[in-house]
Amino acid sequence: SFKALVVSRDEETKEQSVAETTLTPADLMEGDVDIRVDYSTVNYKDGLAITGKLPVVRRFPMIPGIDFAGTVEASTHADFKAGDKVVLNGWGVGETHLGAYSQMARVSGDWLIPLPDGFTGAEAMAIGTAGYTAMLAVMALERQGVAAGSGPIVVTGAAGGVGSVAVSLLSRLGHEVIAVTGREHEHDYLRGLGASDILDRAELSAPPKLLGKERWAGAIDAVGGNTLANVLAMTRRGGAVAACGNAGGMDLPTSVAPFILRGVSLIGIDSVYQPKPRRIEAWSRLARDLDRDKLAAITTTLPFSGLVNAAHDILAGKVRGRLVVEID
Ligand code: NAP
Repeated sequence: SFKALVVSRDEETKEQSVAETTLTPADLMEGDVDIRVDYSTVNYKDGLAITGKLPVVRRFPMIPGIDFAGTVEASTHADFKAGDKVVLNGWGVGETHLGAYSQMARVSGDWLIPLPDGFTGAEAMAIGTAGYTAMLAVMALERQGVAAGSGPIVVTGAAGGVGSVAVSLLSRLGHEVIAVTGREHEHDYLRGLGASDILDRAELSAPPKLLGKERWAGAIDAVGGNTLANVLAMTRRGGAVAACGNAGGMDLPTSVAPFILRGVSLIGIDSVYQPKPRRIEAWSRLARDLDRDKLAAITTTLPFSGLVNAAHDILAGKVRGRLVVEID
């Protein structure tokens, strides 16, 4: 038997509850690879799943946790054998398929990638979905021609997980980075990660004008809502914006003006169902382009018993950077 964090729902009241539970392998869902989970992490979405604040969990009972790093215990998948170190990000794990907050996981080998060269399992989880999404966003901007020297890149939700990795990556790649944060006490942290300018979140939270002063060549947005609309309205002619989050809302009160008058591109990022070759590319880019000292600086480690508190903290905007969870 093994321990797992399990989210259940009362079918009458539709209330969600969460508890540490003992399970056996027979409780796990189908899959051709069994993994001993070594590390996981807490992303914003995991906070939503644990607390039930938004309906992220689509099957009950559910083990939340959308990312893990672990060791293969048994496999009938051609690509994996016992002892292999692997990483999983997304694919509905922790939402529709039993997830990472468990000493054991069983998934399709098609969803796994080998632990990227040069990373420990803990480092892979310090990156996690949030960091790998930041990399996907940087790659998306590059495909639109946004390169070092193009002009400043603005990152919203900068002191959060996606934001901290995005700031670190962009500055290492030679971009000028403008970090947007609501936390004044994290300005030094963000400058340490390479931000050259900092904007208060409030500057981008009012309803946007059709167009504003052209301020940046590109953007990585973790916030959505008015913030994303303002980012679009202030993007330079021909610039590109990667939208990857909704920490400030699901809406997008924009107009066609930035697109048809300035040729701005809005690129959507979905990490969950990203095809395997693009995942492998993102992870190899992370191995090359993410400064390990900065990764260490953004990471806080917590025990399995700290998961529920961390879920509440991340939704309250109190988590800085990335969290690593030790499963054992
Ligand atoms: P996180 O660590 O909580 O970061 C979110 C940050 O957004 C916060 O740290 C805060 O930054 C800012 N923020 C929070 N509430 C806000 C509000 N009401 N208005 C304006 N800013 C606010 O979360 P994360 O794990 O990095 O995820 C960030 C977002 O990206 C989430 O919406 C998540 O669901 C999404 N995401 C999407 C994908 C994808 O595949 N598309 C993958 C990963 C994450 P400051 O304190 O610095 O202001």
